[in-house]
Amino acid sequence: MKAEIFSVGTEILLGEILDTNAKYIATELANIGIDVFYKTSVGDNEKRLLDAIDIAYKRADIIISTGGLGPTDDDLTKETFAKYFNKNLVTDKESLENLKSYYKNDYMPKSNLKQVDMPEGSIALVNENGTASGCIIQENNKIAVILPGPPKECIPMFEKQVKPILQQYTSKVLVSKNLKLCGIGESNACEIIKDLMLSSQNPTIAPYAGNNEVRFRVTASGKTKEEAKELLKPTVEKLYNIFNEYIYGEDEQTLQGAVVDKLIKNNMTISTAESCTGGLLASNIIDVPSASKVFLNGVISYSNESKVYELNVWKEDLEKYGAVSEQVAIQMAEGIREKSNTTIGISTTGIAGPTGETEDKPVGLVYIAISIKGKETVCKKLMLQGDRLKIREKTVNICFSNLLKLI
Ligand code: AMP
Ligand code: MG
Repeated sequence: MKAEIFSVGTEILLGEILDTNAKYIATELANIGIDVFYKTSVGDNEKRLLDAIDIAYKRADIIISTGGLGPTDDDLTKETFAKYFNKNLVTDKESLENLKSYYKNDYMPKSNLKQVDMPEGSIALVNENGTASGCIIQENNKIAVILPGPPKECIPMFEKQVKPILQQYTSKVLVSKNLKLCGIGESNACEIIKDLMLSSQNPTIAPYAGNNEVRFRVTASGKTKEEAKELLKPTVEKLYNIFNEYIYGEDEQTLQGAVVDKLIKNNMTISTAESCTGGLLASNIIDVPSASKVFLNGVISYSNESKVYELNVWKEDLEKYGAVSEQVAIQMAEGIREKSNTTIGISTTGIAGPTGETEDKPVGLVYIAISIKGKETVCKKLMLQGDRLKIREKTVNICFSNLLKLI
């Protein structure tokens, strides 16, 4: 089965919104073994939409469309598909009930009624999270799935109502496992398993690189989920044997999640003193739901005065070595740990750019320091590439990968 993903909306073509529906649907279709050969973005325009449907209908077995199901006249996806397939629009009773209950305490504008009109003979997809019903039109062994644009409506509708139907059309099940690595570069990691990647057909190994992170997605295809899972195992095991010291988690696990889990396991607490990362490190830790068990205090210490006042950094050292220096990073980490009475204190100080560099301190120079109770404080000097945000993000990720090694 070949599918084409259709994103309808002039706002997509103007760059006003990011087409996250297409990303979601592409991922889901890959997971159930339906090939996506084309993605089309088209504006809210009947003529161009008809042309696009015609092209897609000829080259794909399944069209999955999102967007353009709103109550206003410019939303015309369902009407245009109905026109293409020569179908009248008829009110779907269940969808109408759903619409009425949505407005039970409110006045319902008449224009909403068109959201429950369906092309005759189609399967209606009642919207549990909004007013626009979707539908599935089956014609000449081809399927068009029409879904609403807002992700909070489109995703549950696809998940609950569309996926079970599509699964009947595919005999293939794909199962993936993501192995997440830190502390090793993408090209280095790929070089190590070059032969394994080349020789692996089922499962396949695909590398992805992020900020100081590498992910290998291992994907197996089988007749059943169980068969695919079995096929995954030997390759996953091989990757664990090769990259054991670098793998910090699988699938949904995040780097900060792995750090927080390890801190909890080791009964440790942490505090942060941030200069160049300006709170990003603390914010990333707090992203993890169980962070309150380990994260006690965070200080954004941007000025020299605050470094002295908040973190007990020596004024003389600030003057002698400058705020971006090993000495100051170490004193920041030790200062925050002592003031917060935590097991660990971690600090960042650097030049995120684009201004602020000096001859001996270029943009991208960052020091991070980690002070652990009873141990000697560790300081790392980094030379990072990228713009201001990238440098700050990389710094945070390097903090996490170093923490994982040290705790
Ligand atoms: P529409 O039904 O086309 O009027 O879309 C309603 C809203 O859904 C838009 O304003 C966006 O916020 C969202 N939306 C529409 N299409 C997409 C898409 N392809 N990806 C993500 N969000 C979308
Ligand atoms: Mg629209």
